[in-house]
Formats: sequence, structure tokens, C-alpha cells
Amino acid sequence: MARILLIGLAGDSGCQVAALGLHEALVDILVANEPIYAPTLLDAKEIPDDIDVAIVEGGIRNTHEEEMIKEIREKSKVVIALGACAAFGGIPGLANLRHGKELMNEIYNNHRGTDRGTIPTHLESLPEQHPIKHFVKVDYIIPGCPPEITDIAGTLTSLLGGKEPEYNSTQVCDDCPKERLGEYETSLKRIHEEIPDADRCLLEQGFFCMGPATMGGCGAPCPQSGNTCEGCRGSCLDVDDQGMAMIDAMTGLLTQLKDEFDPNLYSAMLYRFTYAESVVAELARRKK
Ligand code: SF4
Ligand code: SF4
Ligand code: SF4
Repeated sequence: MARILLIGLAGDSGCQVAALGLHEALVDILVANEPIYAPTLLDAKEIPDDIDVAIVEGGIRNTHEEEMIKEIREKSKVVIALGACAAFGGIPGLANLRHGKELMNEIYNNHRGTDRGTIPTHLESLPEQHPIKHFVKVDYIIPGCPPEITDIAGTLTSLLGGKEPEYNSTQVCDDCPKERLGEYETSLKRIHEEIPDADRCLLEQGFFCMGPATMGGCGAPCPQSGNTCEGCRGSCLDVDDQGMAMIDAMTGLLTQLKDEFDPNLYSAMLYRFTYAESVVAELARRKK
């Protein structure tokens, strides 16, 4: 019987809700184990000692979350990063395109809808959003925004059954039935600008589909429903930088483009979920 903690840090609880979507499988896990801290399920205030498996949603944005993740790590045998925010920084990591005070000033002084000059001071913000691995060792990740229920169930049942969870070694394109001809358009388009050919690869049609640079296993629901893959499952296995892998995969398209391709303009698409752990973010950090 494992003592389990489920917690949300700087996330939006979407991953915890996905975990609750396990339904009967969740009941089986809860009955066979001991949930000791889970604000979405239990009324527990203190991080308990002797945690077997800590499942952590969300990244780190302030010193309180930094202290919490360090305390959780100290008290846990296994730490799992649940979802893109915890694993790679997620969409909140795009805030790192603006640094610390510059970002706060932009939001609280220059943005319509906020009272000018009311920058909150009650929490000590860090200059950047971080995945939890920037502060503690992470044993496993469950990718996605939110993660697939099958991935959550698979990782937990493997771990709790004494087996090593396995990562998916495919890319989203492997699950996508769209036809690839190896021929590319001459311009880049957004999905709302033109109705794509439903049967043909979106990337070949000039739509920015992150499928080739994204870990498979979701069944490619976005391209199959006519939308581009935005890359929520992060890099493919054994690839360090999702955006660089995407530029590599786009070579055919880039050589056809009439317009110049500026990676800076596309960083929020190349790294929608992984900017906080990207090579370009690290380079920007070193310049500061
Ligand atoms: S990964 Fe997505 S669903 Fe999970 S906390 Fe972050 S934003 Fe929410
Ligand atoms: S690039 Fe996108 S549309 Fe093309 S095969 Fe890959 S996932 Fe499908
Ligand atoms: S297709 Fe892409 S964006 Fe959609 S769920 Fe899969 S990895 Fe995420």
C-alpha cells in the first residue's frame, strides 16, 4: 500500500481534473493505496512525511512553490511531474519571453483591465516560470496539457505494481492518418486563415503542425479534428529541444517558403509548451 500525494502548484488544476477522470480505475488505486494529501479529494493542510509517490501538477513561479517542491522531494521516494506545466513549464512558461519586472510592469501598468500601479507584492515572484526539474530531481513525467487518462493510469499502475513506467517512443505524425506527399506550400498559414484539405498533411499545406516534433501516444486528436498539433506532449523521446527538432522537421517547407522565416516570431509556436526548458530560453538567460 503506497502513500500517495497529489498536489497542484502553478497550474490550473486541469491535470488533477484529468486524474479524477480515471473514474473506476481511480477508485481501485485509492482503495489499494493510501491517499495522504490531495486538496482536490481530501482536506489535508500539511505536506505529510514518508510519501511513496508524489504526483505534482504545475510549475514553479514563486518562492512559496519553490519551498513546497523542495519539501515534497525531501519527503518522497518517487516524484512524478504531471502535465506540461510541471514537466516542461507549459503555456505559463511563455511568460519567460518577458523577464520578471518587465512582465509585471506590462501586465499591471500597461494592460487594459488592470488598475495601473497595483503590482501585487504578497508573494515573492521568481523572475521566470520553471518546470519542477529546475529545482528537484523528477523521476517520471506524464506529458500533455492535460495528460491522457491512459498515460496517467499506465504510469500509476506500472509504478504501484513495482514496474518501470515506459515512455512513448513515437511522434504524433505516427498516429495521424493524413496523407503525406513530400510536397510543400510556399507560404505559412494559420489554421483560421484557410480551410485545409482534410485528408492531406497540414504541415505540407503550410499550417504550423508540431506533429513531427511531439511525443506520440495521444492518437493525434487535434490534426484528426482539423486543427494543428500544438505540441502539448513535448519533445519526442531522447530529443532535448522541441523547437529545434521542429525546425529540422520543417526543412522541406522552409526551403519552399517565399517569405523569410524568423524563428523569434514563431517561438510561441515552436515552444508553446516547452519554452521554459528550451535552448533559446537558456541563451536569452545567459545574455541577461
Ligand atoms: S499542463 Fe495544462 S491542464 Fe495541466 S496544469 Fe498546466 S495548463 Fe493546466
Ligand atoms: S505534420 Fe501534422 S498533419 Fe502532418 S502528418 Fe504530422 S501530425 Fe499529421
Ligand atoms: S495532437 Fe498535439 S496538441 Fe493535440 S493532444 Fe496530441 S500532442 Fe497535444
